[in-house]
Amino acid sequence: MSRSGRRYKPLQQSGNGGGFFPARCDRVRMPRARVLLLCFLGVLVLAAAVLRAYLPNDTAGAQVSRVPAADLSKDRSSHKPSKVSAAQISRLASQVDAARLWETHLRPILIERLPGTKGSLAVQQHITSTLSSLSAGWAVDLDSFRSPTPRGQVTFTNVVATLDPTARRRLLLACHYDSKALPPDPRAPERVFLGASDSAVPCAMILELVTSLDAQLRSFKLQRLPVTLQLVFFDGEESFEEWTATDSLYGSRHLAELMASTPHPTASSHTTLLQAVDLFVLLDLLGGPNPLIANHFDNTARWFDRLIAAEKRLHRQGLLKSHPSEQTYFRKDVYLGPVQDDHIPFLHKGVPVLHIIATPFPQFWHTLDDTEENMHRPTVENLTKIMAVFLAEYLGL
Ligand SMILES: [Zn+2]
Repeated sequence: MSRSGRRYKPLQQSGNGGGFFPARCDRVRMPRARVLLLCFLGVLVLAAAVLRAYLPNDTAGAQVSRVPAADLSKDRSSHKPSKVSAAQISRLASQVDAARLWETHLRPILIERLPGTKGSLAVQQHITSTLSSLSAGWAVDLDSFRSPTPRGQVTFTNVVATLDPTARRRLLLACHYDSKALPPDPRAPERVFLGASDSAVPCAMILELVTSLDAQLRSFKLQRLPVTLQLVFFDGEESFEEWTATDSLYGSRHLAELMASTPHPTASSHTTLLQAVDLFVLLDLLGGPNPLIANHFDNTARWFDRLIAAEKRLHRQGLLKSHPSEQTYFRKDVYLGPVQDDHIPFLHKGVPVLHIIATPFPQFWHTLDDTEENMHRPTVENLTKIMAVFLAEYLGL
């Protein structure tokens, strides 16, 4: 990602599509019989509309395909998190397994993984095989495409996993798995950039979240609720050379376009996969000690408040390690400016974004020192517990 002086305003979803309103009969001078007839017809049309909305339908797909974009947007803004008890918080925290996060999920990602290379393929396979091994039953798709870059045509592959692809709405949790091409250090030419915080750790955190919550996600999926969980592991976040609008964010630009042009549900003529995203939660530059995570967007501030509350509750229950005060990470009183990252193409298309990124950036950012040794394991474990509580609240696990 890149720091930028430019400010980005979240676009408002244009959902005011001029719905059907019966004409008001009393405003037009007409003979009484015609007025009565028109009113009667108006009542009939209204009754038919009400019946259509409430009568049961044969298939879930047919039922949801009538949902206009305005309703998706309304449902998203009225979505209420569930209340999580102290006992549930303890259970969620105990399910997060820091050793599994590190040894099983993180280590295989700590290799050079430039787009279109063997390292990238190995990490893709690690992600897809981890998700396939879970009992919740993830639908995993590879979004592969070729794009011109300053180094010629490159193949990129986003990994997209959806818990219930038929659900109307999605909470989207994302990270990027590619690593940056850095020039070698002449003093240590064998060293390669591993991008531990950028973004191997965030990807490992997501894998640990869905592993630790697997049983809850399995029963959540069986309830066939309107919201589901979607994971995106982006490729090509990093620029090959100087960060520009065309040399960066290859995967997220491609996926945002694809989702914006894909009807959802499948037969829908009104709504797309992009409009089905309730909230786009992006994790990046996490893993170092003492991260400061600021709120970036007013329209998702109520979700940022849930992160603050989760951190406080876990702290008060003594479930966080090396955590000096109840509000150590998530802070609303600091803001160091906008950051360009994988959320940008989605933000520009009106998707609400929650950007969970350390600002200021860690000292080792985009250096060969962004390594496992410079990660702080208790912080990674704490952040994963906070995210587990957040997911449980959002989805009602
Ligand atoms: Zn980076």
